[in-house]
Amino acid sequence: MKTFVQNLAAAYEAIQIEYFQHLHAHPELSFAEYETSAYIKERLTAMEIGLLDGISGTSVVGILHGDIPGPTIAFRADMDALPIQEVTGLAWQSVNDGVMHACGHDGHTATLLTLAKVLSEHRELVKGSVKFIFQSAEEKLPGGGKTICEEGVMQDVDAIYAYHCSSMVPLGVIATTAGATSASVAKYDVVIHGKGGHICNPDQALNPVPVACTMATTINQLLAEKASPLEKAVVTVSYIHGGQRENIIASEATLGGSIRTFNNELTAQLFARLRDVCRGVCAAYGCTCDVSTTLGYPAAINTAAETALINQVVDELGYERWTTEPAMNGEDFSYYLLEKPGSMCYVGMAADEPDKIAPHHNCKFQLNPKGLQVALELELGIYLKATGQC
Ligand SMILES: [Zn+2]
Ligand SMILES: [Zn+2]
Repeated sequence: MKTFVQNLAAAYEAIQIEYFQHLHAHPELSFAEYETSAYIKERLTAMEIGLLDGISGTSVVGILHGDIPGPTIAFRADMDALPIQEVTGLAWQSVNDGVMHACGHDGHTATLLTLAKVLSEHRELVKGSVKFIFQSAEEKLPGGGKTICEEGVMQDVDAIYAYHCSSMVPLGVIATTAGATSASVAKYDVVIHGKGGHICNPDQALNPVPVACTMATTINQLLAEKASPLEKAVVTVSYIHGGQRENIIASEATLGGSIRTFNNELTAQLFARLRDVCRGVCAAYGCTCDVSTTLGYPAAINTAAETALINQVVDELGYERWTTEPAMNGEDFSYYLLEKPGSMCYVGMAADEPDKIAPHHNCKFQLNPKGLQVALELELGIYLKATGQC
C-alpha cells in the first residue's frame, strides 16, 4: 500500500501546492468564504464531481459515485481563516488585509480538493460514493458543521474522516485519539437583581455583591458535586462585576464563566445544577437572577473502529504515530460524529527551521508544505482501507 499511495500522492504534489498557496493568499473569515467556495465549486465541476444541492451558506459538498458498489465515505475540510494580520513574509502571504489562514484550514481544503482530483482521475479506485465536505466557519460559533448536518449530508454516510494540521507537531508524525478528542464548550452568564441604596441603610437595600461572591464559591464546587473524579472537566467563574463606589449599594451584579467537559450529558447536568444553585443562592438573600447558558460545540468523540483504521494506515505508511490526550478546545467536527462513526486526527506540519515554528492563531503561524503530502497520503490510505482495497 505504501508505495502505491506515495506514488499516487506524489503525482499530485504540484497541484496540491498550487491549491494551497492560492487559498493561503486569499483567506476569508468564517461564514464569508465566498471566493473560496467559488474556487472549490469551479474545480470540482471541472473534475466532473457533482455538487450536492440544498447546502446553505458558503459550504460546498462534492459527491463522486463509483461504478463498483461500496460504502459512502465522507471527508471533511474546514475552510475559514481568522481576523489576524499575517507577518510570515511568505511568498504566498495573505493579500487580504487583516485576514490570515492562521489555523491551517487552507491546508485542509487543499488536501481535500487534491483527494477529489486524484479520485476523479482514478475512478477505478472509487467503490461506492465519496462525499467531499468543504465546510465554512469552524472558528466561529455556531459553526458550519451543525448546519451541514441539519441539511442531511450525513444521512447516507457510513463513516467520516478529517485531519487537523499541527504546526507544533513534527513532520512525519500523525497523532490519533480513540474516544473524546475535543471538549464540549459551554458558557453561562448570570445577572443578579438586588435593590440599590445608601450603605447607611443596608436593611432597606438588597446588596447583590456578596450574593455574587457566595454564588461564585458554590459554582466552584459544582464539579466536585456532579462529576465523577475520573471525569476531565473545567467549571470556572471567569468574571464578577458589581458596584461602583464605597457608599452605594449596587442594584445589580453579574458573573459568568465556562464549562468544558468531554461528556455532553455531564455538560447538560452541570447547566441544570448551575441554574438551581444560582436561583437558590439568590432566594436565600431575597434577590432574583437571570441565568443564561450557551452551548457551543459538543464534545467530539472519535469512534474506536474508525480510529483503529487510521492507526493501521499510519503504521502501513510508515509514519510515527502518537496517541494524543483529549484537548479542552472545541471543534465542530463533533456534529458529524454525533450522527455517524468517524475519526479526526492530527498531522504534524512543524516548519523545518525551529525559529519558524509558531502556534496556531499566531500572526507568524505557518505549516510545512511537505506535511500536506503526508495528509494526502493519509486520506488516500484511509479511503483505500475503508473500501477494502488494501
Ligand atoms: Zn483554529
Ligand atoms: Zn483549526
